[in-house]
Amino acid sequence: MTAMTDDRRDSDELRDPKAYEIMKYRRMDYGYYLRTEHWKQVKLDALDRAGHKCQVCGSIERLQVHHNTYERRGQERPEDVIVLCHDCHTLFHQHGKLRGPQNGR
Ligand SMILES: [Zn+2]
Ligand SMILES: [Zn+2]
Repeated sequence: MTAMTDDRRDSDELRDPKAYEIMKYRRMDYGYYLRTEHWKQVKLDALDRAGHKCQVCGSIERLQVHHNTYERRGQERPEDVIVLCHDCHTLFHQHGKLRGPQNGR
């Protein structure tokens, strides 16, 4: 074990700082992820897009950002997250779906 050459070329992820970031986000504990600057930005963007209103009932109170999918955690697309007020968010997690007008399809 003497050759300490650059032997990382099997992992492109480690070369691309952006990809490395994403990988890091995907692996970290979810609670921790929610405290990252990245997630704060995703949240702000989502809030901006939603006009700072719950996308189900239109409330402007106690807004939260919910993941529709964690598939792209670390590089969320706009449609991967949704702005919900605390009540709608709770309902969603209790019933597994949104009661709003926009039920997909
Ligand atoms: Zn709501
Ligand atoms: Zn949620």
